[in-house]
Amino acid sequence: MVNILMDADTLPDPTDARAVRRTIHAFPELGFCEIRTANLAWRTLESLGWVLTGGTSLVDVDGYAGLPGESELETACAEARAQGVDHQSIDRFGGGATAFIAELSGNRPGPTVALRVDMDALPVAESRHPDHRPAAEGFASRNAGRMHACGHDGHVAIGLRVAAGLSADRDFPGRVRLILQPAEEGVRGAAPMVAAGVCDDVDTMLALHLGFGASLGSVAPATDLYATTKLRAEFIGKASHASNAPEEGRNALLAAASAILSLHGLPPFASTPTRVNVGTLLSEGAPNIIPARAILHAEVRAGIAAVHEELERRALAVLSGAAAMQGVEVRTSQTGRATTATNDRVVLAVIEEVSETVDLIVGAPQPLRASDDATLMMNRVQDLGGHAAYILIGSGDFGAHHSPTFDIDESALEHGAHLIEAVVRAGCPEGVA
Ligand SMILES: [Zn+2]
Ligand SMILES: [Zn+2]
Repeated sequence: MVNILMDADTLPDPTDARAVRRTIHAFPELGFCEIRTANLAWRTLESLGWVLTGGTSLVDVDGYAGLPGESELETACAEARAQGVDHQSIDRFGGGATAFIAELSGNRPGPTVALRVDMDALPVAESRHPDHRPAAEGFASRNAGRMHACGHDGHVAIGLRVAAGLSADRDFPGRVRLILQPAEEGVRGAAPMVAAGVCDDVDTMLALHLGFGASLGSVAPATDLYATTKLRAEFIGKASHASNAPEEGRNALLAAASAILSLHGLPPFASTPTRVNVGTLLSEGAPNIIPARAILHAEVRAGIAAVHEELERRALAVLSGAAAMQGVEVRTSQTGRATTATNDRVVLAVIEEVSETVDLIVGAPQPLRASDDATLMMNRVQDLGGHAAYILIGSGDFGAHHSPTFDIDESALEHGAHLIEAVVRAGCPEGVA
């Protein structure tokens, strides 16, 4: 059995991707709180000779709408400390500053190739059923109510396995940059990294995801990456006695409730699939008080960026219209965003060329029908003349993504890592002027 109760001084061997995945799986951390995970990756990459830049010196998330509240960030520091992370590392990664990049140069000139590695888990309580392998084999989540239910534990393991492989033999062109991204869930973590310029000199940008319908032993280009915006809307009204003076009140909950119905009533678009969802509605009070405050979180998505923009514009109009109807104020903020992306043929060609050498079948393009803010990185690189691709690595057929029984076939870790290493060694297209 893998030792998952390591302290921070006992790093798992990065060539053992399964062991790395299992220790990360056992200690899942939510977006911007990935202190233990980032520390494990940082220290491993440091020991492999990679050049690291990170923490507050890399990304400014101060005041960022997608950041968790202060108490949640503080709790994350306390938990990381209790789980063996030293003070210096908590200083580096605390307060939401878990993003970092790692670089290694090969022994000859060539392109800068970046791989996005997302680190965060989800607010899902992991299954304890004996049919669920992490539970049966003792590496299920030890962090209550949180779970690696999307495979990002595996993404970190793949990234570190790639790093170990390249460090052991630096016969490759150019340099490789691993982009350790926080908070992919809720599409929050990429935007501040892109703003910090981590993609500006990248020739080829690679993003991968385990699962999403790709069959085990295959790699498939992803299509149908939806543009999305996550919105927080706070309705501020006025409390009053619900019977004695209801007309004195301004009903924030009623405004939010009618906004929810109208948001879900936004029309579909003929040109592309769209999605609208209100996921939370919070309001506190009592039956005899006109509710003075309500907060909702919503998202809109579309398969075409221009349609998404129009859908978002209409959603914002609904929110302010619903507020106007009840005479309340509404404050909206964007807590996350991603856009659409297309794969460049020249990158897919390299992937296709090397896949056979690592015993992977190239599957048909696989529609993701979801969003990932790696698309912001891909677009940034493509806008500056570089190239990009988003690929899916088959990881078996387990519970659905984001469900309590999600799992992966761990052989997919080696598949993903060997493929990326082979792509780097083969040489990726140059693009940046
Ligand atoms: Zn996910
Ligand atoms: Zn994911």
